Amino acid sequence: MRKKIVAGNWKMNKTLDEAVALTSEVVNMVNDEVTGDVRVVLCPPALYLTTLRQYLPSGARIALGAQNCHEKASGAFTGEIAAPMLSAIGVQYVILGHSERRQYFGETNAQLADKVNTALANGLTPIFCCGESLDLRQNGDFIGFVKNQLTESLFHLSAEAFANIVIAYEPIWAIGTGLTASSEQAQDMHAALREHLASQYGAEVADNTTILYGGSANEKNAAELFACPDVDGGLIGGASLKSREFTNVVKAAR
Ligand code: PEP
Repeated sequence: MRKKIVAGNWKMNKTLDEAVALTSEVVNMVNDEVTGDVRVVLCPPALYLTTLRQYLPSGARIALGAQNCHEKASGAFTGEIAAPMLSAIGVQYVILGHSERRQYFGETNAQLADKVNTALANGLTPIFCCGESLDLRQNGDFIGFVKNQLTESLFHLSAEAFANIVIAYEPIWAIGTGLTASSEQAQDMHAALREHLASQYGAEVADNTTILYGGSANEKNAAELFACPDVDGGLIGGASLKSREFTNVVKAAR
């Protein structure tokens, strides 16, 4: 059975005090209101991870994720953060290949394959992001493009490694724009990606891999998106910055 996950990508937002307040509020609301077995992953700026860990209850329900890590495990890479540093402070997940990293920092599918390897080797679960531009969605083979992102960054892995891989389909045209994919568009892509996994690894791996939707998901549209059979939760940007709204999104994933 694949896991339901709702992850909040805070990006480069919040002061430390605000981050502590948001975390405490989410922890309390999730504990009080969420009854299903959805897992919540908070991905604050890396600077706050050590502090925020102290505000999380023990147990599996709420975990911490980083927004990126370097492809090398250590070395002369000024300003970068390594996977072993993250796992050593109790971080369990790492977002890799977010479209903003691909766009502004030039991350490539090949580089992301290396990041995935280093994350896995250090006990982190990658939340691997993929998704097409608006131009591709309107004029090209957008499904082939996203499948190829998986092929080039993930398909060197063993079937067993997929137990620790989460995929997030995030159409670039929907990120931070208020334009959400319709539930039909999301379901079609998620089903295509699951078929792609099945063609390479077989039905069991495909069925057990969590595929999240991301792109302007919020408390109003989450229930419809999460009701799609191949959508296993969400990677949430803007709506993860407010505790009430984020908790409502989590509740929609039950
Ligand atoms: C994201 O950046 O991963 C994201 C989904 O952002 P938003 O929800 O704000 O579109």
